[in-house]
Amino acid sequence: MVRQAFFSTRVVLPEGIGPATVVIADGKIEAIADGRVVPDDCQLRDFGTDCLLPGLVDTHVHINEPGRTEWEGFETATRAAAAGGYTTLVDMPLNCLPETTTVAALKAKRAAAQGKCRVDWAAWGGVVGDNQAHIAPLAEAGVPGYKCFLIYPGIEGFTMVDEAQLRLALPHVAASRLPLLVHAELAGPLEAAAARLADADWTKYATYLASRPAEAEIEAIQLMIDLCREFKCRVHIVHLSSAKALAMLGDARAEGLPVTVETCPHYLHFAAENIPNGGTVYKCAPPIRGESNRQRLWEGLLTGVIDLIASDHSPCPPEMKRRGAGDFRLAWGGIAGLSASLPVIWTELRERNLPLSYSARWMAEAPAKLAGLSGRKGRIAAGLDADLVVFDPDASFLLTEDRLHFRHAISPYLGERLFGRVKQTFVRGREVFADGAFVGEPVGVELTR
Ligand SMILES: [Zn+2]
Repeated sequence: MVRQAFFSTRVVLPEGIGPATVVIADGKIEAIADGRVVPDDCQLRDFGTDCLLPGLVDTHVHINEPGRTEWEGFETATRAAAAGGYTTLVDMPLNCLPETTTVAALKAKRAAAQGKCRVDWAAWGGVVGDNQAHIAPLAEAGVPGYKCFLIYPGIEGFTMVDEAQLRLALPHVAASRLPLLVHAELAGPLEAAAARLADADWTKYATYLASRPAEAEIEAIQLMIDLCREFKCRVHIVHLSSAKALAMLGDARAEGLPVTVETCPHYLHFAAENIPNGGTVYKCAPPIRGESNRQRLWEGLLTGVIDLIASDHSPCPPEMKRRGAGDFRLAWGGIAGLSASLPVIWTELRERNLPLSYSARWMAEAPAKLAGLSGRKGRIAAGLDADLVVFDPDASFLLTEDRLHFRHAISPYLGERLFGRVKQTFVRGREVFADGAFVGEPVGVELTR
C-alpha cells in the first residue's frame, strides 16, 4: 500500500488539538508531524479545517450474531459503527445464540463474523452461573474480559450470578488479569418496588422509573467493590445510571482498587422529566433518571470517576418495543443508538463549552484501555492502527432513519437536531465510509489479545 499523509488543521491528539500531518504506512500510523508536511513518496490528503479524530472504540455493543440476526448482526452493526465514527466494537456475550460462555461458542461467533465486518471487533466472554471451568480457556482463546449480570438479564440462556457463584468465578477472573464487566443491579430493591407497583399504570414512565430504584445499583456496586477488594480482580461497572453511586466509586478509586466505570449517551442526554408516557423506545435498565442526576453524571465524567462512554447499543425487532400499547412492563429494555453516539455527545460537549478532545478520551482512549487494546487503538499516535475519522464539528443535521444504518431504524434519538457530522472513516488506513456511503469490501478483523 502507498504511504499516505493526512493533514488537517484540527488533529485531535492526546496532547491537544492542532494542525498536524499523520503519516500512514501499512495500515499503521508511522509518524505525526507538526503542521502541513508532505514526506517523500507520500500521497497527501488535505482535510482542511475538518477535525481528524481517532477511530472510536465501543466496548458495549449487542451484535446478537449468531442466533438473533433478526435483532442485529455483524453486517448492520459494523455499518452503523463506521457511519458513526467507530472503528472497533466489542460485542456483549448475550442475546446471541449460543451465548459466548464457552470457547466453542466463541468459535461459532468467529465463523459468523467472517467477511461481514466493516470495522474491527472483539468479543467479551460471559461469566454465568455454571461456567467457571470456561473462564481461563476463554482468556486463552483471546477474549479481552468478561461480562456478568447480577440480575435476570431479560432473556433466557445467559444466567445471572449471585454472590456465591461470583465467589466461585472470581479466582479465575483474577488469575486471568482481565476485567469483569458487571451489570450492577440487585434483585432485592427491584422486587420490593415491583410489589408496590403491582396496580400502577405501566404506560407511565414514572412507574417504570420507580420500578428500578437507585438502591438496586448502589447495593450491587457496593457488593462488587467489596469483592474487588477481596479477590483483587479488575471490576468494570457498565452503564452507570445513578449518580448516587459516584461517591462510593470515587472512594474505591482513591483506595487504589482496580474499579472502572462507564456510562452511556442516553443517560447523559435524556432526562426522565421529558420522557413521554408510552415512550418505550426509552426503556433501558438501569433506567434514564432525572435531570439533576444527568447533570451529576457529567460531573462524574469531568472529575474522572467515570472513565468512559459506551453506547450499550441494544436493539431488538420493532414489535418487541410494544410501541402501540406503550406498556413499559412488556417492552424490551434496550436502546439502539450506535451511529448517533458521537454527535449526541459532541452536541452535549458543545453546549457545555467543552472540547472535542474529551470525546476522544472517553469514547476512544479509555475504552481501548479497558479492552486491552491501547497498543493498537484509541489514539492518534505513532505505532497504532491508522483508525481515523474525518469529522465536521460545526455541521448540524436532523437525525433521520436513513442515518442510523443498524438493522431496525428505531431509536429515541430520531428527530433530534445534532451537531457533528462523520464525513469519512478509515480502518487501518483504508476508507470504509465516505459521504454517507460504505466503501469497498468489509475489511474488519477480530482483535484478540
Ligand atoms: Zn448492554
